[in-house]
Amino acid sequence: MYISHYVKNTSVLGPGKRFALWLQGCKKQCKGCIFPEGQGEVTKGKWISTEELLDIIQSVKGIHGITISGGEPFLQIDELMDLCRQVKEHTKLDIILYSGYRFEELEAKYRDRFYKICSYIDILIDGEYVEALNDNQAYRGSSNQTIHMLSDKYKPYLDQMNQLRNRTVELKMNSTGELVMIGIPYKGFQDDLIHKMVNQCHYYY
Ligand code: SF4
Repeated sequence: MYISHYVKNTSVLGPGKRFALWLQGCKKQCKGCIFPEGQGEVTKGKWISTEELLDIIQSVKGIHGITISGGEPFLQIDELMDLCRQVKEHTKLDIILYSGYRFEELEAKYRDRFYKICSYIDILIDGEYVEALNDNQAYRGSSNQTIHMLSDKYKPYLDQMNQLRNRTVELKMNSTGELVMIGIPYKGFQDDLIHKMVNQCHYYY
């Protein structure tokens, strides 16, 4: 599959510690998208086989699950299905999947392949990013997006996840050696960050 990058261990993209994977390619152009580099053709990304990716995931100790986003993961639905199947068959990790399409759109377009993916994943967070509906909820970029519990694992926490407002981000080196921001930042975060770096950063030698 064509990926943008991955981070081996993060605490801000779902419950527990998680491997996070960003697939390349998205045909939407949501205003205010926090990952515009993920837009465009999937082939802009780096190709990696499912087996190689699974080996990397399995080499990471102490994680509870994986979170897959993009870009739009469903642009590579067959590779996505293969990865989710192999993660479920070979690990005990849970899977959270983000999509810019609504559950109903995915269902209508992909039918059995969508149902198969749903049988492997624990949480689907669906819907495109709508800047005007960004109300600082955790786990979702905007309030039109829905958290769908597709397995029982996190069902008891649905209300808690829906009500969480403490957005947290991490800065980490990703798989391509770049410094990346992980997580959904609060509204205005980038402006705040630039302001603080310019005005409040102290240097020590
Ligand atoms: S669906 Fe996601 S990746 Fe695609 S443009 Fe919208 S916010 Fe960006």
